[in-house]
Amino acid sequence: MPVFSHASCLDHDTGPDHVERPERLAAVIEALRAAFPGLELRQAPAATRGQLLRVHDESLLATVLESHPSGRIPLDSDTVLSPGSAQAALHAAGAGVAAVDAVLNGDIRRAFCAVRPPGHHATASIAMGFCLFNNVAVAAAHALERYGLPRVSIVDFDVHHGNGTQAIFDTEPRVQYVSSHQLPLFPDTGLRLERGLGNIVNAPLPPGTGSRRFCEVWRERLLPELDAFAPQLVLISAGFDAHWRDPLAQMQLDAEDFAWLTGELVALANRHADGRIVSTLEGGYDLQALRECSVAHLRALSTD
Ligand SMILES: [Zn+2]
Repeated sequence: MPVFSHASCLDHDTGPDHVERPERLAAVIEALRAAFPGLELRQAPAATRGQLLRVHDESLLATVLESHPSGRIPLDSDTVLSPGSAQAALHAAGAGVAAVDAVLNGDIRRAFCAVRPPGHHATASIAMGFCLFNNVAVAAAHALERYGLPRVSIVDFDVHHGNGTQAIFDTEPRVQYVSSHQLPLFPDTGLRLERGLGNIVNAPLPPGTGSRRFCEVWRERLLPELDAFAPQLVLISAGFDAHWRDPLAQMQLDAEDFAWLTGELVALANRHADGRIVSTLEGGYDLQALRECSVAHLRALSTD
């Protein structure tokens, strides 16, 4: 199974004390290379303006692409723009587009995008929560517009709620957004009563939630919702910050839990979507957890 990435994703420079740092991506790539000899790394192209404008406003493109900062400038208290950020953001979004193309053209069935900055907090017009462009939303919009897919599901198991993804698609019936996340926690959205058109499914979980409750929620509520929607493509916002080692949240999962859920998503995709899954890296801020979880995730994605 190919991994889409690009060297420019290492050039988004958030500063010396920032948790969303280039070492995260280097750790993921290094762990995947060690675990999967012969790993096929494909170059992620830059997303085009047209691909970005399917989900983002001109104003956000101007902020990210036309600021040309000479050093680091803060967009908010935790989101930074650096000289290399525009290229990183373009290739992070372009990875998902290229992976969707590869999967829907029948070249491959599944792909992983090892990219940063992450994306799921970025709304149509606002970069926030370490995110510049909403990578998974750009990929979903590409599947809708380029391939005319009537049903695409976005599965988000990052420990934070993907407020940006939800806001972009909460009036789009062709996209289902299904998320488990810790609450209370940034960005403090993702209540169960946030349902969109019925296409939004949120499972907020309290701090301290471990494997048993996490698996129960997915098995009893979220996976059945996905089955009922019967997506023709499954996109994953793969954040690994619900791991017990992660410094930003208090959930208690381990790599096996991510492997289990990934296996369930493979089975779901096999039932409805000819096995088609495109997964994109979101959060995960402990390097050891990131290494273990990304390997477990890819191993499960590679299994039929
Ligand atoms: Zn996160």
